[in-house]
Amino acid sequence: MPEQFLKIESCGPVEIDCKRANLPFTLRSTCKCGEEVVVDLADDQYLSYPVVGGEDELCKMEGLEPEKVHFYCQECDSEWSFRVRLAMTMTVVP
Ligand SMILES: [Zn+2]
Repeated sequence: MPEQFLKIESCGPVEIDCKRANLPFTLRSTCKCGEEVVVDLADDQYLSYPVVGGEDELCKMEGLEPEKVHFYCQECDSEWSFRVRLAMTMTVVP
């Protein structure tokens, strides 16, 4: 009898149907004034309808917005943001 196996291939892009997706990431960015700002995506901020596995051109074709994370420095009242791409992995659990 052949051994059963599971082959997992990624595809995409797929938009996750979640308005407020809190995720297990802590993001740190240093402000121009030198202050480190920490954003906890599990609590402080969320991604709205995030796209997983998307290449930029495919996202544009599908009309999907790239994700952004926002930082605010209380020391000098500065704001800045970064575009981010969400990737996902799936593994078989024995
Ligand atoms: Zn600052």
